[in-house]
Amino acid sequence: AKKNGRNQYALYHDEMHSDGKQLFQLETALRKALDRGEFELYYQPQLDIKTKQIRAVEALIRWNHPEKGFISPGMFIPLAEESGLITPMSDWIMLQACEHLKQLQLHFPNVKMSINISPIYFQQIDFLEKLQKTIESVNVNPRLIELELTESAVMPHAEQSVERLTMLKTMGISVAIDDFGTGFSTLSYLHRFPIDILKIDQSFTKQLSQYQEDSAIVEAIIMMAHSLRIQVVAEGVETKKQYQVLEKQCCDFVQGYYVSKPMPISELYEFLDMWNHL
Ligand code: C2E
Ligand code: CA
Ligand code: CA
Ligand code: CA
Repeated sequence: AKKNGRNQYALYHDEMHSDGKQLFQLETALRKALDRGEFELYYQPQLDIKTKQIRAVEALIRWNHPEKGFISPGMFIPLAEESGLITPMSDWIMLQACEHLKQLQLHFPNVKMSINISPIYFQQIDFLEKLQKTIESVNVNPRLIELELTESAVMPHAEQSVERLTMLKTMGISVAIDDFGTGFSTLSYLHRFPIDILKIDQSFTKQLSQYQEDSAIVEAIIMMAHSLRIQVVAEGVETKKQYQVLEKQCCDFVQGYYVSKPMPISELYEFLDMWNHL
């Protein structure tokens, strides 16, 4: 490996990039994993601070490798994006999340399903068509579906994105901007995009208990979002202290280990049952 002072992942990624053969091998490995059903969606709840109800769950992909064990999505999603396998993988994620939502709806009719969408997938020409087909074939209520897009998914093609987001809105699907504050800083553009939710990145939440300045940034984001009628999720909430600061700042929803870690669908049912009886 080249020792250029960058992190492990960057090195690995650079090598993959420069070595076509290895990239091909990885694509083959990922495709086999998809065919063998080695991927699984885990779900992490989002708590509504006002009502104390679970308002949504976020679908997070996991790879249970037969020999290497659990491989984190932070590792294989970028490689899937580079190899082109992100398309069949995202098709599977959409279908699986919709099927789980359909079942969940029978027991917990108000819980939404939030699905991460890779920028590459979002920008594909048949994205909306495929989404529509999946929703129809599973026969699930689109008003319970939320898509998470990063700033890097919507910013580079702003005009086309506005069109797509408007179509999603027409379909009844809501849209969240993920990892807000880490990318292009869409602050000044935000009003141009028809979005429903802002997800404040974990890096801001982490600082909440320590520094007054970071609390001020989070507070400003929440106030600005509310003035645009956008609701706010704080990500990575781990402590009661962070929760309390966010509650005081009128944050709408929290997600993080303080409420629950991501879990398999079977555990999610138990969790929601328990939560409802609290
Ligand atoms: P993300 O969308 O920002 O997801 C939140 C990440 O934070 C998840 O990591 C989650 O497990 C973790 N997390 C949640 N609460 C806490 C907390 O309180 N403390 C800490 N330290 N971490 C917390 P995960 O599951 O490893 O996913 C990493 C990233 O991989 C995601 O970041 C997302 O960008 C990507 N990803 C995961 N699943 C999918 C997927 O189905 N499709 C796509 N396109 N990307 C995905
Ligand atoms: Ca996300
Ligand atoms: Ca995020
Ligand atoms: Ca992230």
